Amino acid sequence: MNRIYNFSAGPSMLPLDVLQKAAAELVCYGESGMSVMEMSHRSPDYEAIINDAEAMLRKLMNIPDNYKVLFLQGGASTQFAAVPLNLIKRTGKADYVVSGQFSGKAFKEAQKLGYDVKCIATTKEDNFDHVPVVTKDMIRPDAAYLHICFNNTIYGTKYPYIPETGDIPLVADLSSCIISEPIDVSKFGVIYAGAQKNMAPAGLTLVIVREDLLDYAEEQMPTMLEWKIMAENGSMYNTPPCYTIYMAKLVYEWILEMGGLEVMKEKNVKKAALLYDYLDSQDYYIAPVKKESRSMMNVTFVTGDADLDKKFASEAAKAGLKNLKGHRSVGGMRASIYNAMPYEGVEKLVAFMKEFAANNPKA
Ligand SMILES: *Cc1c(COP(=O)(O)O)cnc(C)c1O
Repeated sequence: MNRIYNFSAGPSMLPLDVLQKAAAELVCYGESGMSVMEMSHRSPDYEAIINDAEAMLRKLMNIPDNYKVLFLQGGASTQFAAVPLNLIKRTGKADYVVSGQFSGKAFKEAQKLGYDVKCIATTKEDNFDHVPVVTKDMIRPDAAYLHICFNNTIYGTKYPYIPETGDIPLVADLSSCIISEPIDVSKFGVIYAGAQKNMAPAGLTLVIVREDLLDYAEEQMPTMLEWKIMAENGSMYNTPPCYTIYMAKLVYEWILEMGGLEVMKEKNVKKAALLYDYLDSQDYYIAPVKKESRSMMNVTFVTGDADLDKKFASEAAKAGLKNLKGHRSVGGMRASIYNAMPYEGVEKLVAFMKEFAANNPKA
């Protein structure tokens, strides 16, 4: 076995323990005589898997009873449309914060549907190097919801606080930071996340929605986008992404066994600190994100020279540190250090960065 350190932003590394457990039961799950991939989603064996997945996630995130947990498909991007289609009828208008590419796409999707949506804050003019300050008085008092992206995967920023919205439901895209640390779910109306960053392979989208927000779907709502129907059917209105849910269950179990999200956070804080402390200690690499907005999951840096950046990513890959190239829209480097990235992976990265800086002096 020759596994490398994979710093991909998503799909991304999965815990080795989880992959090995999945491998061990790949061909024959328990006493079922078949693979989870081959099971009817209505079978008792599978019912137990999806029920366990939900129960474990509820325990892990301490999800209050008045929230529904939905295991859906279509990626976080499908929720960019599903959010307004499920919620805007509450008042007829909604507000957005644009703090990066994904929140911009979410805003555009709601606009495309012809809705009255307003961008109340953006940091576009600063190349999204921090998240905007959001206060309650900025939100239209009759907004159906405020939408934010909590961790901006591409730019490597994250809100250092949960915006206070009063009675206006806060809707948040948590794709790249979910289950990286404890979060107070009760502060949100809706949380959604694609699974392929920090939870499972691609193909699963998680939606956590407060029950009182299930009653505002549009009349002409596509059934597959309607949270209420999915909730009433236990995420099984149609065939759910069965195997990916099973993988998510293994990931939840892995975190619960290590002690839950407090322990997960401790590990993540330590990894991110190792990398940011190094970045702050030298001047060969530049970390473009303002300190108070730094993401714990996606760490961006540049050399200031596009050719050197390119050389860095390619030499790092040869040294077993893969996918460090920044997003195609921003360039530079990005190290995604999700839950599954071990501390040693970040140690190796920092050692490589030092070596690269020593061997490649700037002109
Ligand atoms: C990756 C990502 C998305 C897009 O997710 P898909 O599942 O590919 O649609 C949306 N938002 C954030 C924050 C992401 O990191």
